[in-house]
Amino acid sequence: MPHLTYPPKLSLANIPTPFQKLERASRALGVNIWIKRDDLTGSVLSGNKIRKLEFTLAQAQLEGCDALITCGGLQSNHCRATALLGAQLGFEVHLILRGKPPLEFDGNLLLDTIAGAHIETFSTQGFTQQLSQRLEGKAQTLRSLGRKPYIIPTGASDDVGCWGYLHACAELHQDFERCDLEPEAIYLATGSGGTQAGLTLGAEIFELGCPVVGIAVCDDTAYFQRKVRRDMESWQRRYRANCEIGEAGIDALDIHVLDDYIGPGYAQAGEEVYQTITWLARQEGIVLDPVYTGKAFHGLVSEIKLGNINAGSDVVFIHTGGVFGVFPDRARFIGL
Ligand SMILES: *Cc1c(COP(=O)(O)O)cnc(C)c1O
Repeated sequence: MPHLTYPPKLSLANIPTPFQKLERASRALGVNIWIKRDDLTGSVLSGNKIRKLEFTLAQAQLEGCDALITCGGLQSNHCRATALLGAQLGFEVHLILRGKPPLEFDGNLLLDTIAGAHIETFSTQGFTQQLSQRLEGKAQTLRSLGRKPYIIPTGASDDVGCWGYLHACAELHQDFERCDLEPEAIYLATGSGGTQAGLTLGAEIFELGCPVVGIAVCDDTAYFQRKVRRDMESWQRRYRANCEIGEAGIDALDIHVLDDYIGPGYAQAGEEVYQTITWLARQEGIVLDPVYTGKAFHGLVSEIKLGNINAGSDVVFIHTGGVFGVFPDRARFIGL
């Protein structure tokens, strides 16, 4: 292993998370599916974002900030985790959310409200183009009120956030050793790219010996290859002294993204995704979400059924959380 020095990290997540074989689902599909239970990093603080925020919020504290500004969809898991952790650590939290607020708050949006986050919503149209301006505008306003805001990008996917899943690879390394496992690949849902960037770096550093395959939930393969590479490059620029990767550096790392399972778009899924969610819940007692993990797991099952994954082989799925996303989508589960 190369020399590795972690930057400041808070201890917020319940880790290490369990690593299990999906016994019944594996028998049904003819491929051994192992699952990393990052849906169990906490209760209302569950999911992948908390691993990134352990580093991001340590950085915010280090810089002496007292307010957090971040953004995402109306039902963003990242915003919910930020709202709750901000409350826990004494930051004022401001969320800039994409979408039209419903009459009744539900799922993550309800939890944001319970946690006391300040919420502003904007229509989907032009959201991305105006995002950096809105984040900066909010920061200016807070500064004029004497606050010291810290802006967290979408999904905490940046150089700092990369550490979350780089760090998780130390756990995976131990999981694989304990289970005497040499998996063919690690699959996960990719939405803003930071989890995949961290896993790709960590797989190299901890010599996991298998590719990391992102299943895109919104944009296409070319987009995510660029985004993941950009996050890894900014990580390397900033943290060169903390960790040096191979001679060829990160240019030599492959970024694998499957974009066949996006469906109609972000937070929009076809019935097959809801069917996969109910199927897995009834096989294993594990609940996926319709925006990320359900889509990605549906992609994995489809790849198995297409014969793109060898029968009898071992694969790993990272369950990145998101359970609160099933509630606003309740109507889609009726009759399945
Ligand atoms: C954010 C999220 C992802 C995607 O992670 P990125 O780092 O944004 O790509 C996957 N699953 C769930 C449940 C998430 O909330």
